[in-house]
Amino acid sequence: MAERRINNMEKIRTAVAQDLLSGRIDLLLGWEKGLYWWQSRPLFARNSEDLQRLTWDSFCVANLSGYLQEELKENKKIGILLKGCDSRALNRLVQDQMVDRERVVAYGLPCPGLLDPRLLKQEAGLELTALGIEEGEDRVTLTGTKGKSIAREELLLEKCRRCHHPDPVGCDQLLLPPVGSREDRSRFHQVTRLEEIPAEERFAYWSSQFERCLRCYACREACPCCSCRECFVEQEEPRWLGKAHENSENFIYHLTRAFHSAGRCVECGECQRVCPVELPLMELSSKIIKDINELYGEYQAGLDTEQDPPLLTYQPDDPAAFVE
Ligand code: SF4
Ligand code: SF4
Ligand code: SF4
Repeated sequence: MAERRINNMEKIRTAVAQDLLSGRIDLLLGWEKGLYWWQSRPLFARNSEDLQRLTWDSFCVANLSGYLQEELKENKKIGILLKGCDSRALNRLVQDQMVDRERVVAYGLPCPGLLDPRLLKQEAGLELTALGIEEGEDRVTLTGTKGKSIAREELLLEKCRRCHHPDPVGCDQLLLPPVGSREDRSRFHQVTRLEEIPAEERFAYWSSQFERCLRCYACREACPCCSCRECFVEQEEPRWLGKAHENSENFIYHLTRAFHSAGRCVECGECQRVCPVELPLMELSSKIIKDINELYGEYQAGLDTEQDPPLLTYQPDDPAAFVE
């Protein structure tokens, strides 16, 4: 496995180096190792020295497509490494006309799923600093314990355990062999569990969650769907949201954001990952995805750029019970 990973890394580096060094792209968005082994952070590579730090491992979680809009102001053409979920985000940005696809070279990385450091810590019963891992094809061994070995699938991030499309879509080049679709995974089990709770309890659940929100707006900043030039939370005329830290205002923020991303959420999980108080934001987006699928037919944002989102189209037989 270690050898395959090194070979994969060389393959990826060689492919992107050709384009960066020949000037086909001015910048490569990828990942490099962070301070700790369980962290891989965004890399902005401009030359061969930067490329030496490029990494592709089980912790490359950041969706780099969120950097494109800003970086395209400074660079003519950008290369970007994309996992399945990230590629859907790029497609969404292109569909929203927020990113000019002609100025992007998309390199797809078929994705075996990313490991969740919190689950690793929980399984080991140790701080991550006292732990290491060895990754096999289907199992992960926790070094630092007495060699505890766990099925890889059980250690994946929540979004990866639900992911149906680990292979990137619409890329210019796939850098590794496809891993195949995973439609056997359950996408909505968490939503179904919440739907079964009586309405009052569900309200209490969300109320206690939203109460913890700091309104730092990191979830909005990280979201590839939140691409409005001016967000409603900053509008003064009219003012939609007060500045006071009140739960009613937090409800307005979260419900409005959820509706604004309805039919556009690509399930990348960035909103939930960056939240400093760990709000389960994907439960909310998943509920809306599930409802849209049930009302208007199956639709997965960012998979097919030719297909219009259901909320931007009208069919005479669309259900309308909720407006009657
Ligand atoms: S959601 Fe899918 S594509 Fe994205 S990181 Fe997880 S397994 Fe990979
Ligand atoms: S990132 Fe978390 S705390 Fe910040 S606004 Fe979003 S939900 Fe609230
Ligand atoms: S709402 Fe969350 S999961 Fe959906 S696209 Fe935005 S960041 Fe990704």
